[in-house]
Formats: sequence, C-alpha cells, structure tokens
Amino acid sequence: MHRERNAKIIATLGPASSDAAMIERLFLAGADMFRLNFSHGSHDEHLALVQAIRALEENQGKPIGVLLDLQGPKLRVGEFADGPVRLREGARFSLDLADVPGDSTRVRLPHPEIFAAAEPGMQLLLDDGRIRLQVSRCQENRLETIVHTDGELSDHKGVNVPDMVLPLPPVTQKDLDDLEFGLDHGVDWVGLSFVQRPEDCEALRERIQGRAALMCKLEKPAALNRLEPIVEACDAVMVARGDLGVELPPEQVPSAQKRIIRACRKAGKPVVVATQMLDSMMRQPVPTRAEASDVATAIYDGADAVMLSGETAVGDYPEQAVSMMERIVCRSETDPYYAEVQKARRLEPEKTTADAICCALQAVVDTLKVNTTVIYTESGFSAQRAARERPAAAILSLTPKIATARRLAVTWGVRSVVVPVLEDAQQMVDKACQTAVNEGFAAPGELIVIAAGMPFGTAGTTNLLRVTRIPSH
Ligand code: PGA
Ligand code: MN
Repeated sequence: MHRERNAKIIATLGPASSDAAMIERLFLAGADMFRLNFSHGSHDEHLALVQAIRALEENQGKPIGVLLDLQGPKLRVGEFADGPVRLREGARFSLDLADVPGDSTRVRLPHPEIFAAAEPGMQLLLDDGRIRLQVSRCQENRLETIVHTDGELSDHKGVNVPDMVLPLPPVTQKDLDDLEFGLDHGVDWVGLSFVQRPEDCEALRERIQGRAALMCKLEKPAALNRLEPIVEACDAVMVARGDLGVELPPEQVPSAQKRIIRACRKAGKPVVVATQMLDSMMRQPVPTRAEASDVATAIYDGADAVMLSGETAVGDYPEQAVSMMERIVCRSETDPYYAEVQKARRLEPEKTTADAICCALQAVVDTLKVNTTVIYTESGFSAQRAARERPAAAILSLTPKIATARRLAVTWGVRSVVVPVLEDAQQMVDKACQTAVNEGFAAPGELIVIAAGMPFGTAGTTNLLRVTRIPSH
C-alpha cells in the first residue's frame, strides 16, 4: 500500500483522537504526519500518543512523522477584580505592570517588553483580535489606549501586537522543558511558534543539535519582513493562519500565504498550510465548498502539506476530515491544469551538483515518460531537491536512516523506505528495482531512473544518475 497523492496531510491529535484505534483510522484515511500541540496536554498524554504512533508505524511498515508544536511566548493580560469588563468604543483603557486586579479602566499586562517597544498609534489586539486598542501614550510601565473595537474582556485573554517586533525570548521555560521531553522520545520535527527573526530559529537549532528538524511557524507580520532569511534558517515552514489571521487583516492573509509558499518553493524547503482548512467539519460531516476550495488552492499553489487542527483534535468528525482532505488533494492533483501550473512554475536549479542531477532526473522523466524515480538519500536533502523539481513521477526515497524517512513525511511526493547500507553500484541498482516492484510502484520490464551519491554513506554527495530497466524474470 502506498499513497496515490503527492501532497501530504498532517493531523493534529487531541481528545477526539487520542486512542490508538482512532490514530490508526486517521493514518489509514490519509494522515502522513501527526502534530502534538504542546499548548495543551500533559507530558504523560503526549508520551502515550508518541507510543501509539510508533506502534502503528511498526504494524504498517511505513515511516510516520511526529511534529512537536511548541506553544511559544504567548502574551496574555492579567485578571479582573469583579469578572469580565465591557470595553466601549472611544473609551480610555490602560495597561500596566501593577500586580493589582483590573477593572473597566485598566488591567495588568505582565510583559515589560511591550512597554519598551510600544509607540503611540500602534495597535493591541485582545482575545483573538476581537478587541482592538490603539496606543495613545506610552510610559515606562503604563500604556494608555483608546478602545477602537469594543467587546468584553476577561482574565488571561491573549494579546497580539502586530506592529511591534518584541525582544521576547523565542522560547519560554515551558517550551525548553517540552523540547527536551520531545527529543528524549524521538519526535521528528519541532514547530517553533511566533518566529520573528532568523535568529529565533538559530537559537533553537543550537539546542536541538540535529536530533529533530525545525519547522518555523509564520504567524507574525514582522516575520514577513524577513521572510527569505527565516526560510533559510529553518528546515520547513508552516503558514500558521490562526495567529497570522489575527495579526493581519483578513484580506492580507491570502497574498501572504502565497508569498510564503513561493519563498519556500524557491528555497526547496517544505511548506505546510495550516489552520481552519476544514473548520466547519468540527461540527458537520461535510465541509463548506469554500473550505474545499481553500485546501485545493494550497495544492495548486504548490504546498508540500496541508494540516488539520481542531478538526481532528477536538472535532466530531476527525476521520471524515482526513478522508475529505485526502479526496480534495487527490482530485486537485489529477486535474490536468494542476500539471500545467506546476510546469509553468518550474524553478531554476541552483548551481550545485545535486540540483544538476535532479534537473537531469526530471528531463529523463519527461523524455522517456518514466513513472518511478528512486533517490538514495542519507540526510533527506537529495530527496528534497528532487521533490523541488515536482517531477511527474513517483519519488521513492531509499535511506538507511529511519529518522530521515520520518522527516520526509512532510515533503511533497516523497515515499520513503528504509534499506540497509549499500556496498556498490550494482547492489544499488538491484535494490532500487526490487523495492520499486515490492512497494507497487513499478512492474518488471519498466524503466526507472535512479539518483544517488557515491561513495555511499556520505550525506550531500548526489552525483550519479542511472536509467535502468527492471529485469523481467
Ligand atoms: P497554534 O498555531 O494552533 O499553535 O496557535 C497555528 C496557528 O496559529 O495557525
Ligand atoms: Mn498560532
């Protein structure tokens, strides 16, 4: 059994999907990678999920990716003395550092960084953007604001500050504890929330020390100002439209999403489109047509993966949400227009041996109408460069490393199989032919094209292309 589609599906696990039977159903319905959201749940609960996923992987004989999503520095207001308060348009409202319960004129905002970075005219968005305040006066430990959109404000509501680049530590102590826990239990990807600068990625990368790959979540407008260096500094990107959609006006989200996808495609890094994709399936067994169209748009735009959040974590129809996503992806990819779009957006190779080989691989696929390509990859880099070409053929990646196979679960088109370390070129050809047949990609007598690096066992050496016919016995 292998998947027919190329783009991948990530499903978030939560109370609606925490038992092993449901995780298996989500996998069979199409989930290639599972996301553990560390904004919720205890370490014990997450550990049980990791164990269930690894047991499933063993049973199915297919590598499955695990993404640990760190909560990150989420800003919140303090508490109110007498319950929720009503903020009215045009009224004055202050935020300060005083450890005193709030009322309808002020509340504590326990984040000194905001006071230092604020300037008159800037906006504060409270409670997922429902309440909008504009800063009128800044003092060292007090901000005076005017209420622009009114609403009810209660304890610990979230605060977004789209106009400010905050000198916040990109990770909190909770994140560091969660990270160590996750790395100890072998997660494949770490998601870093609220990335604002490339330095945020670099700091976390130093802690990870190669034990997992790094996905940065773009959910701050400030990140868009440094998009290319951020893409450069991480291994993959998530378009996190939940928070991004609060910080940006709705009409700016589509173009931001497309810009992020283009930047990642150019760099050859996987890009995930996330949040609210099939939101109404939280409560209904079918999505709105607008949601179906949203998933399809991400696919036509060239995203590597699409993600489900609440739909699979706390929704009433987790399995249906995955199979619906699967059907939308499959249908979009078989549209002849999809192939045309991918072809028209063909990217220039970079001036490296690996890209030259992958470019040649693509030429062989097109000229000889080959259906299967086989890539030997240590680190996953060669498979990723081959995927960047978006070849009109299956990409079968053979790797001696299970960690590489799992990480590639997010990369467009790549189906990974773990194989023993190879000795020589003949063994490589034999193994490629045998695996392509065994995994149901190709039949005896068919042509396949193989890319590999010699000598074997060294990452980043892709230097060899071989076209071969599978022997028919
Ligand atoms: P979150 O991230 O669910 O952790 O907030 C995703 C998003 O903001 O879209
Ligand atoms: Mn978020």
